[in-house]
Amino acid sequence: MLSRLAPLPAPAATGPFKVVLINPYELGRQPFALAEPAAWLKREGFAVTCLDLSLQKLDPEILEDAGLVALYVGMHTATRIAVQALPRIKRLARKAHLCVFGLYAPMNEALLRGLGVGSVLGGELEPALVSLCQRLRANETAMIQSEPVISLGRVPFVVPDRSGLPKLSRYAHLVLPDGSTRVAGFAEGSRGCKHLCRHCPVVPVYQGKFRIVAADVVMEDIRQQVGEGATHISFGDPDFFNGPTHGLRLARALHAAFPYVTFDATIKIQHIIDHAELLPELRRSGCIFITSAAEAVDDDILRLLDKNHTGRDFDRAVALTREAGIALAPTFVAFTPWTTLEGYVALLERLIELQLVEGVPPVQLTIRLLVPEGSYLLQLPGFKEKLMAFDPRLLGYPWVHPDPRVDRLQKDLQAWVARCEEKGVARREVFAAIWRMAHEALGRPAPELARNLGSPIPRLSEPWYCCAEPTEQQLQSF
Ligand code: SF4
Repeated sequence: MLSRLAPLPAPAATGPFKVVLINPYELGRQPFALAEPAAWLKREGFAVTCLDLSLQKLDPEILEDAGLVALYVGMHTATRIAVQALPRIKRLARKAHLCVFGLYAPMNEALLRGLGVGSVLGGELEPALVSLCQRLRANETAMIQSEPVISLGRVPFVVPDRSGLPKLSRYAHLVLPDGSTRVAGFAEGSRGCKHLCRHCPVVPVYQGKFRIVAADVVMEDIRQQVGEGATHISFGDPDFFNGPTHGLRLARALHAAFPYVTFDATIKIQHIIDHAELLPELRRSGCIFITSAAEAVDDDILRLLDKNHTGRDFDRAVALTREAGIALAPTFVAFTPWTTLEGYVALLERLIELQLVEGVPPVQLTIRLLVPEGSYLLQLPGFKEKLMAFDPRLLGYPWVHPDPRVDRLQKDLQAWVARCEEKGVARREVFAAIWRMAHEALGRPAPELARNLGSPIPRLSEPWYCCAEPTEQQLQSF
């Protein structure tokens, strides 16, 4: 992607050059994506302050003499919060150059530049961020953004500096089936992905590449979080088995160093099947659940998304993880332009059949396909023509289902599930309501639900999803 003209304001006058790194939201995780750049920048002598808007408020004093403010947008919801926060940040940080970095930055480059953002960085961006800060410190007042918008070179990762972030115990924690909780740490063993699923936001940036974080760096990061009380580690890699040898090395090293620490990871259905022989060792090393982007159980939809697995493969992955004693937490894109009401009910039936109801956060059953700028879905013949014009508020191309009952059901479910989340309604009760509402939409009586819907599984207190509307609470943080 081309660099753009970016006028840079005068840097802060005296003292070390001040950089403020801001995380709008990252699923309740203590962000590696702030801690890693913080370590790089501090090493170069920059004064770095981290602000996590999921737990902190924008502080005018911190922003007023910043030379650079950089917001991290690793997911859709975070980007929408960032877009809304940028005007206020711009007012408060009058001397600062604005940068937005992370997966969703390159995809939304034009929009962000229109909001006054001078630098947009994605991919393996730490060297680019350092270069930008050095140029600002050197008093370059106007120049072309010489740093690439997307960097994919291999970077020598350093141990993330988490010292400037809120305490780990304030972030999402592990919830065990008996209701007890544990402090969870968050580590990354790799970034990017070698697959090209059409709907995935990783793909337009990494284009089928992934990059490893050296095992000793990951272990040092885990060690510091265990020192902060973590007894569970959640690996945030897009796919822990993109490099199965690396994944297994991390699992072994974690278990050898901290035998009492459990972990979870994200692994795609195809990798669960292809590397099934590794699952028992993952379990012995402390893996208690695997999140997997199943997305659908309908083979036609899976083909359109280029998921490289079938509905039957999903069943197989459920069986394999169960055999290994690891819980499976599948995620779904429940509503697509190709979803029918019958197909939606078939998804619910499959979850019942597989006794997976307790393993699926209800929000997963309301997710609507998002088509951001740059999505590989736009390459599907005839698809773009069916979409509406790009909506900067939604950060995507809206679509309308040919069957209005499907859109109505999705809206109703989304509102219902959000209310249930607020009230803490049990998953099986929410599912029962979804079951009833889906049948009502179809004009059929809902059959009585089976008694055995599966057992609760370990989970993080903040459910995994990437494309929800920002909440009122999130928007009040700035
Ligand atoms: S959905 Fe998962 S496997 Fe597919 S490209 Fe994205 S990260 Fe990779």
